[in-house]
Amino acid sequence: MSSLAGKTALVTGASRGIGRGIAMRLARDGALVGVHYGSNEAAAKETLADIDRAGGRGFLVHAELGVPGDADRFWAGVDAGLAESGAGAGVDIIVNNAAVGASSDFQGVTPEEFDRLYAVNVKAPYFIVRQGVGRLRDGGRVINISSGVTRIAEPRVMAYGLTKGAVEVFTHTLAKELGPRGITVNSVAPGIIETDNTATQFTTPEAWAAAAAYSVFNRVGQPADIADIVAFLASEDSRWVTGHLIDATGGSLLG
Ligand code: NDP
Repeated sequence: MSSLAGKTALVTGASRGIGRGIAMRLARDGALVGVHYGSNEAAAKETLADIDRAGGRGFLVHAELGVPGDADRFWAGVDAGLAESGAGAGVDIIVNNAAVGASSDFQGVTPEEFDRLYAVNVKAPYFIVRQGVGRLRDGGRVINISSGVTRIAEPRVMAYGLTKGAVEVFTHTLAKELGPRGITVNSVAPGIIETDNTATQFTTPEAWAAAAAYSVFNRVGQPADIADIVAFLASEDSRWVTGHLIDATGGSLLG
């Protein structure tokens, strides 16, 4: 039997990149997967089609995050998707993956962009979990995607890094809050992973080579490198791990 058979998982930002990789892996492990997206419906449908083709099950959840009412719309979409799928109202796994990056460095970021980074990367996951905590079954899982920049100082993306620091505080504090229900809460901090996001930052072979050189393995990570770690945290095997951050940077800048 697949390890997540009978479980329901929700993955925010599952239309593309790391989120898509996570959604596909959890579906392969047997979970019914809510494929959340913000604006790229075509990409979200592709994720769902890939899940279907691989013999898995999923449904779409549309909600722009970082705007008033986002968590309400998210859960309304989840409820509709669960009903359509003939599944119960409860969920077992929430993966907070959707996030936006900073377009400017320490000097350049505007107060408006700073607020937007917090609204999407911190406030949205906080209220998604808070509103969903009653639907999250005992023994469930919350997995938050952080970033290697909480360990590796990167002034270029300082404001974004601050939001991920908040995600890590959210993780271990929520782990204490939900522990009595057997729910684990962990975060995963990717290093440089090849996605649409990084494709806009590394535009030449030389830039990709420099990105690869951050890792002791001398390669850029792939979404599956993160999805496999999330699959472990989502599984029963990780039951004794909570409030923890897994560095998934491929040993970037170990010193
Ligand atoms: P992408 O930019 O490739 O994809 C982002 C996903 O999040 C998309 O599915 C997008 O939906 C969704 N999303 C973004 N903003 C919103 C919003 N306002 N409302 C709703 N959905 C939104 O990101 P990555 O795959 O690269 O990153 C995924 C996670 O990993 C993020 O938390 C990121 O911070 C983290 N990370 C990534 C690294 C990397 O090198 N790629 C390194 C370290 C951390 P839509 O398609 O509809 O736009």
